[in-house]
Formats: sequence, structure tokens, C-alpha cells
Amino acid sequence: MGLFSKKTEYCQICNKELTHKHKPKKEWGIKGPLCGDCHVSKSMEFYEGKVRQPCVECGTTRKITDLWEPRWQWDIEGLLCKECFDKKEESFDKKKTFCSQCGGKMGFVRYRPKPKWKMEGELCRKCWDTQKAKFG
Ligand SMILES: [Zn+2]
Ligand SMILES: [Zn+2]
Ligand SMILES: [Zn+2]
Repeated sequence: MGLFSKKTEYCQICNKELTHKHKPKKEWGIKGPLCGDCHVSKSMEFYEGKVRQPCVECGTTRKITDLWEPRWQWDIEGLLCKECFDKKEESFDKKKTFCSQCGGKMGFVRYRPKPKWKMEGELCRKCWDTQKAKFG
């Protein structure tokens, strides 16, 4: 495996073969690299607030500057409008008082699942141990 076995990548916007890859910003919603030109013009669009994007929850299209980035704990890709953000936050807060696995009420001591378990919410001690034994 040398340098030459690397597969060619193309710009996600204009399909130009890439010699230099530019990573798009998370909020642009583009998966994959961009060429320098597209990266610059995309940054411009974003700064000028021209980009409109639907909220991933309700689908309402808003100016990207009016959309909120979801909290990382929610495990959501994309952006949310203010209303959905608030709703999400509220339901997430509620969820937090119960173990997301067995539904048992939790006291002050809660356990956050490891990211690789891909779980939402928090766990009671018992469920955390079970998960740990299963997935490491
Ligand atoms: Zn390009
Ligand atoms: Zn929404
Ligand atoms: Zn539990």
C-alpha cells in the first residue's frame, strides 16, 4: 500500500478531481471533501445567510442562521429550528430521570453510556454493567 494506491476523490459540489481536499464545515451538511473554490464559495454563502436548510425534525425550511445545532447527546445529524430544539431539549430532560434501558427511576447517580454503544439517555448502574459486559 503506497501513495499511489490511494483512490481519487472528487469535489462533492463540482465533481472536480481533488488534489487538495478541503473539509466542509459540519453545518453545511455536506459529506465528503470539497475543492478550494467550492469551499470558499460555500463559506461565503453561509456567512451571508443565503443558505436555507430544512429542520431535520419538522422539515420547515429556514435560513441557516436561524437554525440550531443539536446537542451532541441527542445524536442528531443536521440542524433544528428553535421550536424543535426546545421540544427536544424538554423531552431529553425528561428522559434523563429514567434509565433508558430498563425504565427504572434513577437517583442522583446516573451512568452515561459509552459513545460506541450508540444509546440515548442515561443508564442505571445495573444496565450500565450489563452493557459493559456485552459490548465492552
Ligand atoms: Zn468544487
Ligand atoms: Zn423544526
Ligand atoms: Zn436500568
